Amino acid sequence: MKVCVVGIGYVGLVTAGCLAEAGNSVICVDNDRRRIEGLRKGEILIYEPGLGEIVQRNEKLKRLEFTTDLKYGVDNSLIIFLAVGTPPTADGSADMSAVREVAGGIAEQMPDYRIVAVKSTVPVGTHKKVAEIMKAKTDKPFDYVSNPEFLKEGSAVEDFMSPDRIIIGTEKQSVRETMRQLYGPFMRKGNRIIFMDPASAEMTKYSANVMLATRISFMNEIAALCEKLGADVESVRQGIGSDSRIGRAFLFPGVGYGGSCFPKDIRALIYTGGREKVEMRIAKAVEQANETSQQRFADRIVDYFGKRSNVVLAVWGLAFKAKTDDVRESPAVNCVKKLLERGMKIRAYDPEASATAKSALGDKIETFENGYDALDGADALVILTEWQEFRNPDFELIARKLKKPVIFDGRNLYDAEVVRKAGFEYYSVGRPAVK
Ligand code: NAD
Repeated sequence: MKVCVVGIGYVGLVTAGCLAEAGNSVICVDNDRRRIEGLRKGEILIYEPGLGEIVQRNEKLKRLEFTTDLKYGVDNSLIIFLAVGTPPTADGSADMSAVREVAGGIAEQMPDYRIVAVKSTVPVGTHKKVAEIMKAKTDKPFDYVSNPEFLKEGSAVEDFMSPDRIIIGTEKQSVRETMRQLYGPFMRKGNRIIFMDPASAEMTKYSANVMLATRISFMNEIAALCEKLGADVESVRQGIGSDSRIGRAFLFPGVGYGGSCFPKDIRALIYTGGREKVEMRIAKAVEQANETSQQRFADRIVDYFGKRSNVVLAVWGLAFKAKTDDVRESPAVNCVKKLLERGMKIRAYDPEASATAKSALGDKIETFENGYDALDGADALVILTEWQEFRNPDFELIARKLKKPVIFDGRNLYDAEVVRKAGFEYYSVGRPAVK
Protein backbone atom coordinates (compact mmCIF):
# COMPACT_ATOMS: atom_id res chain seq x y z
CA MET A 1 0.00 0.00 0.00
CA LYS A 2 1.06 3.60 -0.43
CA VAL A 3 1.33 5.39 2.87
CA CYS A 4 2.52 8.79 4.06
CA VAL A 5 3.52 9.53 7.67
CA VAL A 6 3.66 13.19 8.73
CA GLY A 7 5.73 13.94 11.84
CA ILE A 8 8.85 11.76 11.95
CA GLY A 9 9.61 11.67 15.68
CA TYR A 10 9.52 8.59 17.90
CA VAL A 11 6.06 7.48 16.80
CA GLY A 12 6.29 8.58 13.17
CA LEU A 13 9.65 6.97 12.44
CA VAL A 14 8.73 3.68 14.10
CA THR A 15 5.37 3.63 12.26
CA ALA A 16 6.99 4.42 8.93
CA GLY A 17 9.85 1.94 9.39
CA CYS A 18 7.60 -0.93 10.48
CA LEU A 19 5.03 -0.32 7.73
CA ALA A 20 7.86 -0.28 5.16
CA GLU A 21 9.23 -3.51 6.66
CA ALA A 22 5.84 -5.10 5.86
CA GLY A 23 6.31 -4.18 2.18
CA ASN A 24 4.43 -0.88 2.00
CA SER A 25 5.84 2.19 0.25
CA VAL A 26 6.11 4.90 2.87
CA ILE A 27 6.82 8.59 2.42
CA CYS A 28 8.01 10.30 5.61
CA VAL A 29 7.25 14.02 5.88
CA ASP A 30 8.55 16.37 8.55
CA ASN A 31 8.92 20.13 8.61
CA ASP A 32 12.22 19.86 10.47
CA ARG A 33 14.68 20.10 7.58
CA ARG A 34 17.64 19.06 9.73
CA ARG A 35 15.85 15.88 10.78
CA ILE A 36 14.95 14.97 7.20
CA GLU A 37 18.48 15.67 5.92
CA GLY A 38 19.89 13.55 8.75
CA LEU A 39 17.54 10.67 7.97
CA ARG A 40 18.49 10.81 4.30
CA LYS A 41 22.13 10.37 5.37
CA GLY A 42 21.15 7.40 7.53
CA GLU A 43 21.30 9.29 10.85
CA ILE A 44 18.43 8.05 12.99
CA LEU A 45 18.69 10.90 15.55
CA ILE A 46 16.82 8.98 18.26
CA TYR A 47 17.86 5.86 20.13
CA GLU A 48 15.37 3.05 19.79
CA PRO A 49 16.47 -0.60 19.72
CA GLY A 50 16.23 -2.15 16.23
CA LEU A 51 14.97 1.01 14.53
CA GLY A 52 18.23 1.99 12.80
CA GLU A 53 18.53 -1.32 10.93
CA ILE A 54 14.91 -1.22 9.77
CA VAL A 55 15.12 2.36 8.55
CA GLN A 56 18.42 1.86 6.74
CA ARG A 57 17.32 -1.41 5.11
CA ASN A 58 14.00 -0.01 3.86
CA GLU A 59 15.55 3.19 2.62
CA LYS A 60 18.01 1.15 0.53
CA LEU A 61 15.08 -0.88 -0.84
CA LYS A 62 13.36 2.43 -1.69
CA ARG A 63 10.35 1.59 0.46
CA LEU A 64 11.10 4.58 2.69
CA GLU A 65 11.52 8.13 1.45
CA PHE A 66 12.18 11.27 3.48
CA THR A 67 10.96 14.71 2.50
CA THR A 68 9.81 18.05 3.85
CA ASP A 69 7.33 18.31 0.96
CA LEU A 70 3.83 17.50 2.26
CA LYS A 71 2.37 17.77 -1.25
CA TYR A 72 4.63 14.98 -2.49
CA GLY A 73 3.50 12.73 0.36
CA VAL A 74 -0.20 13.52 -0.13
CA ASP A 75 -0.05 13.12 -3.92
CA ASN A 76 1.53 9.68 -3.70
CA SER A 77 -0.32 7.98 -0.83
CA LEU A 78 -3.78 6.64 -0.08
CA ILE A 79 -3.42 6.68 3.71
CA ILE A 80 -1.84 9.65 5.47
CA PHE A 81 -0.87 9.19 9.10
CA LEU A 82 -0.45 12.15 11.42
CA ALA A 83 2.18 11.57 14.09
CA VAL A 84 3.04 15.16 14.92
CA GLY A 85 3.57 16.24 18.50
CA THR A 86 0.70 17.40 20.72
CA PRO A 87 2.69 18.93 23.60
CA PRO A 88 1.01 20.39 26.67
CA THR A 89 0.11 24.08 26.82
CA ALA A 90 0.21 26.19 29.99
CA ASP A 91 -3.36 25.26 31.00
CA GLY A 92 -2.74 21.51 30.53
CA SER A 93 -4.67 21.18 27.26
CA ALA A 94 -2.94 19.57 24.26
CA ASP A 95 -1.36 21.96 21.75
CA MET A 96 -3.18 21.06 18.56
CA SER A 97 -1.51 23.59 16.28
CA ALA A 98 0.60 21.02 14.39
CA VAL A 99 -2.40 18.69 13.90
CA ARG A 100 -4.51 21.59 12.60
CA GLU A 101 -1.74 22.83 10.31
CA VAL A 102 -1.06 19.40 8.79
CA ALA A 103 -4.77 18.56 8.41
CA GLY A 104 -5.30 21.86 6.59
CA GLY A 105 -2.23 21.23 4.43
CA ILE A 106 -3.42 17.75 3.46
CA ALA A 107 -6.84 19.11 2.50
CA GLU A 108 -5.27 21.77 0.30
CA GLN A 109 -3.01 19.26 -1.47
CA MET A 110 -5.37 16.29 -1.89
CA PRO A 111 -5.77 15.43 -5.61
CA ASP A 112 -8.63 13.01 -4.81
CA TYR A 113 -9.93 10.65 -2.07
CA ARG A 114 -7.61 10.11 0.94
CA ILE A 115 -7.77 8.43 4.35
CA VAL A 116 -6.40 10.58 7.17
CA ALA A 117 -5.37 8.47 10.18
CA VAL A 118 -4.40 10.28 13.37
CA LYS A 119 -1.80 8.53 15.54
CA SER A 120 -0.98 11.57 17.65
CA THR A 121 -2.65 11.54 21.07
CA VAL A 122 -5.46 14.03 20.62
CA PRO A 123 -8.36 15.18 22.79
CA VAL A 124 -11.73 13.52 22.39
CA GLY A 125 -13.63 15.37 19.70
CA THR A 126 -10.59 16.01 17.50
CA HIS A 127 -12.08 13.84 14.75
CA LYS A 128 -14.89 16.36 14.33
CA LYS A 129 -12.57 19.37 14.40
CA VAL A 130 -10.13 17.91 11.88
CA ALA A 131 -12.99 16.99 9.57
CA GLU A 132 -14.30 20.58 9.80
CA ILE A 133 -10.86 22.04 9.06
CA MET A 134 -10.47 19.78 6.04
CA LYS A 135 -14.00 20.35 4.71
CA ALA A 136 -13.40 24.08 4.79
CA LYS A 137 -10.39 23.63 2.49
CA THR A 138 -11.44 20.92 0.05
CA ASP A 139 -14.45 19.43 -1.63
CA LYS A 140 -12.57 16.19 -2.38
CA PRO A 141 -13.81 13.17 -0.39
CA PHE A 142 -11.84 11.86 2.60
CA ASP A 143 -12.28 9.64 5.63
CA TYR A 144 -10.92 10.22 9.11
CA VAL A 145 -9.60 7.38 11.28
CA SER A 146 -8.60 7.71 14.90
CA ASN A 147 -5.71 5.26 15.31
CA PRO A 148 -4.04 6.03 18.65
CA GLU A 149 -0.58 4.59 19.18
CA PHE A 150 0.36 2.48 22.19
CA LEU A 151 4.03 1.75 21.51
CA LYS A 152 6.46 2.21 24.39
CA GLU A 153 9.78 3.97 23.90
CA GLY A 154 12.54 1.42 24.45
CA SER A 155 10.53 -1.41 22.90
CA ALA A 156 8.74 0.59 20.23
CA VAL A 157 9.68 -1.58 17.25
CA GLU A 158 8.69 -4.77 19.04
CA ASP A 159 5.44 -3.14 20.22
CA PHE A 160 4.58 -2.03 16.71
CA MET A 161 5.46 -5.37 15.12
CA SER A 162 3.54 -7.37 17.70
CA PRO A 163 0.96 -5.09 19.29
CA ASP A 164 -1.36 -5.98 22.17
CA ARG A 165 -4.11 -4.33 20.16
CA ILE A 166 -4.71 -1.91 17.32
CA ILE A 167 -7.51 0.56 17.87
CA ILE A 168 -9.28 1.72 14.72
CA GLY A 169 -11.80 4.48 15.28
CA THR A 170 -14.08 4.77 12.27
CA GLU A 171 -17.60 3.59 11.58
CA LYS A 172 -17.13 3.22 7.84
CA GLN A 173 -16.83 -0.41 6.75
CA SER A 174 -14.67 0.19 3.67
CA VAL A 175 -12.12 2.14 5.75
CA ARG A 176 -12.10 -0.60 8.40
CA GLU A 177 -11.25 -3.10 5.63
CA THR A 178 -8.41 -0.93 4.31
CA MET A 179 -6.95 -0.52 7.79
CA ARG A 180 -7.36 -4.25 8.48
CA GLN A 181 -5.36 -4.94 5.32
CA LEU A 182 -2.63 -2.48 6.32
CA TYR A 183 -2.26 -3.96 9.80
CA GLY A 184 -2.72 -7.58 8.67
CA PRO A 185 1.05 -8.35 8.67
CA PHE A 186 1.23 -7.45 12.37
CA MET A 187 -1.66 -9.76 13.36
CA ARG A 188 0.00 -13.08 12.69
CA LYS A 189 -0.48 -14.29 16.28
CA GLY A 190 -4.23 -13.65 15.95
CA ASN A 191 -6.49 -10.72 15.28
CA ARG A 192 -5.99 -7.91 17.75
CA ILE A 193 -7.74 -5.14 15.86
CA ILE A 194 -10.55 -3.50 17.79
CA PHE A 195 -12.94 -1.34 15.80
CA MET A 196 -14.91 1.42 17.44
CA ASP A 197 -16.19 4.95 16.85
CA PRO A 198 -13.57 7.74 16.69
CA ALA A 199 -14.52 9.41 20.01
CA SER A 200 -14.13 6.10 21.87
CA ALA A 201 -10.78 5.49 20.17
CA GLU A 202 -9.54 8.92 21.29
CA MET A 203 -10.82 8.26 24.81
CA THR A 204 -9.20 4.80 24.93
CA LYS A 205 -5.73 6.30 24.55
CA TYR A 206 -6.10 8.76 27.43
CA SER A 207 -7.79 6.19 29.64
CA ALA A 208 -5.00 3.66 29.08
CA ASN A 209 -2.23 6.11 29.94
CA VAL A 210 -3.98 7.49 33.02
CA MET A 211 -4.74 3.95 34.24
CA LEU A 212 -1.08 2.93 33.89
CA ALA A 213 0.14 6.06 35.65
CA THR A 214 -2.41 5.42 38.40
CA ARG A 215 -0.83 2.05 39.13
CA ILE A 216 2.61 3.64 39.41
CA SER A 217 1.46 6.45 41.70
CA PHE A 218 -0.54 4.02 43.81
CA MET A 219 2.51 1.80 44.30
CA ASN A 220 4.68 4.81 45.14
CA GLU A 221 2.27 5.83 47.89
CA ILE A 222 2.16 2.28 49.21
CA ALA A 223 5.99 2.31 49.14
CA ALA A 224 6.09 5.51 51.21
CA LEU A 225 3.84 3.92 53.79
CA CYS A 226 5.90 0.70 53.76
CA GLU A 227 8.99 2.75 54.62
CA LYS A 228 7.27 4.24 57.65
CA LEU A 229 5.89 0.90 58.85
CA GLY A 230 8.92 -1.28 58.19
CA ALA A 231 7.22 -3.32 55.44
CA ASP A 232 8.96 -4.23 52.18
CA VAL A 233 7.11 -2.98 49.10
CA GLU A 234 8.81 -5.58 46.89
CA SER A 235 7.12 -8.34 48.88
CA VAL A 236 3.84 -6.41 48.75
CA ARG A 237 4.23 -6.02 44.97
CA GLN A 238 4.65 -9.76 44.51
CA GLY A 239 1.83 -10.43 46.91
CA ILE A 240 -0.70 -8.29 45.08
CA GLY A 241 0.62 -8.91 41.56
CA SER A 242 -0.12 -12.62 41.88
CA ASP A 243 -3.82 -11.80 42.07
CA SER A 244 -5.02 -12.33 38.50
CA ARG A 245 -7.48 -9.45 38.88
CA ILE A 246 -4.53 -7.13 39.54
CA GLY A 247 -1.71 -8.61 37.44
CA ARG A 248 2.02 -7.95 37.71
CA ALA A 249 2.60 -5.18 35.16
CA PHE A 250 3.22 -1.55 36.12
CA LEU A 251 3.47 -2.18 39.84
CA PHE A 252 7.13 -1.18 40.21
CA PRO A 253 7.70 1.55 42.78
CA GLY A 254 10.42 4.11 42.08
CA VAL A 255 11.13 7.79 41.52
CA GLY A 256 7.89 8.30 39.62
CA TYR A 257 6.73 8.26 36.02
CA GLY A 258 7.79 10.70 33.30
CA GLY A 259 8.32 10.81 29.56
CA SER A 260 6.56 12.66 26.82
CA CYS A 261 3.21 10.91 27.30
CA PHE A 262 1.99 10.15 30.83
CA PRO A 263 2.42 13.63 32.37
CA LYS A 264 0.94 15.45 29.39
CA ASP A 265 -1.92 13.01 28.83
CA ILE A 266 -2.92 13.15 32.49
CA ARG A 267 -2.97 16.95 32.39
CA ALA A 268 -4.97 16.88 29.16
CA LEU A 269 -7.58 14.53 30.68
CA ILE A 270 -7.83 16.74 33.77
CA TYR A 271 -8.32 19.73 31.47
CA THR A 272 -11.00 17.99 29.38
CA GLY A 273 -12.79 16.85 32.54
CA GLY A 274 -12.74 20.41 33.86
CA ARG A 275 -14.13 21.75 30.62
CA GLU A 276 -16.94 19.19 30.65
CA LYS A 277 -17.58 19.72 34.39
CA VAL A 278 -16.61 16.12 35.22
CA GLU A 279 -13.85 16.46 37.75
CA MET A 280 -11.03 13.96 37.15
CA ARG A 281 -10.23 13.46 40.83
CA ILE A 282 -8.19 10.31 40.38
CA ALA A 283 -6.06 11.79 37.59
CA LYS A 284 -5.38 14.86 39.76
CA ALA A 285 -4.29 12.69 42.67
CA VAL A 286 -2.08 10.58 40.39
CA GLU A 287 -0.26 13.70 39.24
CA GLN A 288 0.21 15.03 42.78
CA ALA A 289 1.43 11.67 44.04
CA ASN A 290 3.97 11.55 41.22
CA GLU A 291 5.39 14.95 42.14
CA THR A 292 5.53 13.87 45.77
CA SER A 293 7.42 10.66 44.98
CA GLN A 294 10.09 12.56 43.01
CA GLN A 295 10.42 15.12 45.81
CA ARG A 296 10.51 12.44 48.50
CA PHE A 297 13.44 10.66 46.89
CA ALA A 298 15.44 13.88 46.43
CA ASP A 299 14.63 14.93 50.02
CA ARG A 300 15.96 11.68 51.37
CA ILE A 301 19.36 12.35 49.76
CA VAL A 302 19.36 15.99 50.90
CA ASP A 303 18.41 14.96 54.47
CA TYR A 304 21.16 12.35 54.54
CA PHE A 305 23.86 14.95 53.90
CA GLY A 306 22.23 17.56 56.11
CA LYS A 307 24.16 20.83 56.19
CA ARG A 308 27.29 19.38 54.58
CA SER A 309 28.61 21.46 51.69
CA ASN A 310 30.54 20.31 48.59
CA VAL A 311 28.52 17.11 48.26
CA VAL A 312 29.38 15.26 45.05
CA LEU A 313 26.96 12.64 43.71
CA ALA A 314 27.52 10.03 41.03
CA VAL A 315 24.24 9.59 39.16
CA TRP A 316 23.49 6.50 37.05
CA GLY A 317 20.60 7.09 34.70
CA LEU A 318 19.11 10.26 33.19
CA ALA A 319 16.60 8.88 30.66
CA PHE A 320 12.98 8.80 31.81
CA LYS A 321 13.17 5.00 31.60
CA ALA A 322 15.57 2.35 30.33
CA LYS A 323 16.33 1.73 26.65
CA THR A 324 15.66 5.27 25.47
CA ASP A 325 17.59 8.53 25.15
CA ASP A 326 14.41 10.50 25.85
CA VAL A 327 14.61 12.83 28.86
CA ARG A 328 11.30 14.66 28.35
CA GLU A 329 9.76 15.08 31.83
CA SER A 330 12.30 12.54 33.06
CA PRO A 331 11.97 11.92 36.82
CA ALA A 332 15.75 11.40 36.79
CA VAL A 333 16.35 14.87 35.37
CA ASN A 334 13.78 16.37 37.77
CA CYS A 335 15.56 14.73 40.68
CA VAL A 336 18.97 15.96 39.45
CA LYS A 337 17.54 19.50 39.22
CA LYS A 338 16.39 19.31 42.85
CA LEU A 339 19.84 18.12 43.95
CA LEU A 340 21.57 20.86 41.93
CA GLU A 341 19.33 23.44 43.63
CA ARG A 342 20.78 22.21 46.92
CA GLY A 343 24.27 22.99 45.63
CA MET A 344 25.26 19.36 45.07
CA LYS A 345 27.68 18.52 42.25
CA ILE A 346 26.52 15.86 39.79
CA ARG A 347 28.77 13.42 37.91
CA ALA A 348 26.36 11.53 35.66
CA TYR A 349 26.35 8.52 33.39
CA ASP A 350 23.59 7.25 31.12
CA PRO A 351 24.20 4.68 28.37
CA GLU A 352 22.19 6.72 25.82
CA ALA A 353 20.78 9.90 27.32
CA SER A 354 23.85 11.95 28.30
CA ALA A 355 23.59 14.24 25.28
CA THR A 356 19.82 14.81 25.55
CA ALA A 357 20.16 15.41 29.31
CA LYS A 358 22.98 17.87 28.73
CA SER A 359 20.78 19.84 26.40
CA ALA A 360 18.05 19.85 29.09
CA LEU A 361 20.38 20.68 31.99
CA GLY A 362 23.09 22.65 30.25
CA ASP A 363 26.59 22.50 31.66
CA LYS A 364 25.34 22.13 35.20
CA ILE A 365 26.26 18.45 35.23
CA GLU A 366 29.38 16.59 34.21
CA THR A 367 28.74 13.46 32.12
CA PHE A 368 30.93 10.39 31.63
CA GLU A 369 31.23 7.66 29.02
CA ASN A 370 31.46 4.99 31.66
CA GLY A 371 29.44 4.54 34.85
CA TYR A 372 32.49 3.70 36.95
CA ASP A 373 34.35 6.88 35.92
CA ALA A 374 31.43 8.93 37.28
CA LEU A 375 32.04 7.42 40.73
CA ASP A 376 35.54 8.79 41.32
CA GLY A 377 35.56 10.77 44.55
CA ALA A 378 31.74 10.96 44.82
CA ASP A 379 30.02 10.88 48.23
CA ALA A 380 27.32 8.45 47.07
CA LEU A 381 25.89 6.68 44.04
CA VAL A 382 22.33 7.65 43.07
CA ILE A 383 20.46 5.36 40.65
CA LEU A 384 17.63 6.99 38.72
CA THR A 385 16.96 4.85 35.62
CA GLU A 386 16.56 1.07 35.50
CA TRP A 387 19.09 0.30 32.74
CA GLN A 388 19.85 -3.40 32.53
CA GLU A 389 23.62 -2.77 32.77
CA PHE A 390 23.18 -1.30 36.29
CA ARG A 391 21.60 -4.48 37.68
CA ASN A 392 24.70 -6.54 38.30
CA PRO A 393 27.57 -4.11 38.81
CA ASP A 394 31.02 -4.62 40.32
CA PHE A 395 30.13 -3.63 43.89
CA GLU A 396 33.75 -3.91 45.01
CA LEU A 397 34.83 -1.37 42.41
CA ILE A 398 31.92 0.96 43.30
CA ALA A 399 32.89 0.84 46.98
CA ARG A 400 36.55 1.51 46.15
CA LYS A 401 35.76 4.54 44.01
CA LEU A 402 33.19 6.23 46.25
CA LYS A 403 34.40 8.20 49.28
CA LYS A 404 32.02 6.14 51.37
CA PRO A 405 29.96 3.12 50.18
CA VAL A 406 26.47 4.63 50.00
CA ILE A 407 23.81 3.93 47.36
CA PHE A 408 20.47 5.68 46.92
CA ASP A 409 18.50 3.46 44.56
CA GLY A 410 15.42 5.06 43.03
CA ARG A 411 14.61 1.89 41.04
CA ASN A 412 15.01 -0.91 43.60
CA LEU A 413 17.61 -2.71 41.50
CA TYR A 414 19.50 -4.54 44.22
CA ASP A 415 18.94 -7.28 46.70
CA ALA A 416 19.38 -5.90 50.22
CA GLU A 417 21.49 -8.90 51.30
CA VAL A 418 23.88 -8.52 48.36
CA VAL A 419 24.57 -4.85 49.09
CA ARG A 420 24.79 -5.47 52.82
CA LYS A 421 27.45 -8.15 52.26
CA ALA A 422 29.32 -5.79 49.93
CA GLY A 423 29.46 -3.29 52.80
CA PHE A 424 27.07 -0.63 51.51
CA GLU A 425 24.65 1.69 53.18
CA TYR A 426 21.66 1.25 50.90
CA TYR A 427 18.49 3.31 50.61
CA SER A 428 15.83 2.24 48.11
CA VAL A 429 12.10 2.93 47.65
CA GLY A 430 9.64 1.38 50.08
CA ARG A 431 12.10 -1.10 51.54
CA PRO A 432 13.93 -1.11 54.85
CA ALA A 433 17.24 0.76 54.67
CA VAL A 434 20.50 -1.21 54.89
CA LYS A 435 22.87 0.55 57.29
P1 NAD B 1 8.11 13.91 18.58
O1 NAD B 1 8.17 15.26 19.16
O2 NAD B 1 9.23 12.93 18.79
O3 NAD B 1 7.86 14.00 17.01
C1 NAD B 1 6.97 14.90 16.41
C2 NAD B 1 7.49 15.23 15.02
O4 NAD B 1 6.51 16.02 14.35
C3 NAD B 1 8.78 16.05 15.02
O5 NAD B 1 9.75 15.43 14.21
C4 NAD B 1 8.36 17.41 14.45
O6 NAD B 1 9.38 18.04 13.72
C5 NAD B 1 7.20 16.99 13.58
N1 NAD B 1 6.28 18.10 13.27
C6 NAD B 1 5.76 19.01 14.12
N2 NAD B 1 4.96 19.86 13.45
C7 NAD B 1 4.96 19.47 12.16
C8 NAD B 1 4.35 19.94 10.98
N3 NAD B 1 3.53 20.99 11.01
N4 NAD B 1 4.59 19.29 9.82
C9 NAD B 1 5.40 18.22 9.78
N5 NAD B 1 6.03 17.72 10.86
C10 NAD B 1 5.81 18.34 12.04
O7 NAD B 1 6.73 13.29 19.12
P2 NAD B 1 6.40 11.75 19.44
O8 NAD B 1 6.96 11.37 20.76
O9 NAD B 1 6.68 10.92 18.23
O10 NAD B 1 4.81 11.87 19.63
C11 NAD B 1 3.94 12.16 18.54
C12 NAD B 1 2.51 11.95 19.01
O11 NAD B 1 2.30 10.58 19.38
C13 NAD B 1 2.13 12.75 20.25
O12 NAD B 1 0.79 13.13 20.17
C14 NAD B 1 2.31 11.75 21.39
O13 NAD B 1 1.51 12.04 22.49
C15 NAD B 1 1.87 10.47 20.72
N6 NAD B 1 2.47 9.25 21.29
C16 NAD B 1 3.79 9.22 21.65
C17 NAD B 1 4.33 8.05 22.16
C18 NAD B 1 5.77 7.99 22.58
O14 NAD B 1 6.13 7.01 23.24
N7 NAD B 1 6.61 8.96 22.24
C19 NAD B 1 3.54 6.90 22.28
C20 NAD B 1 2.21 6.96 21.87
C21 NAD B 1 1.68 8.14 21.38
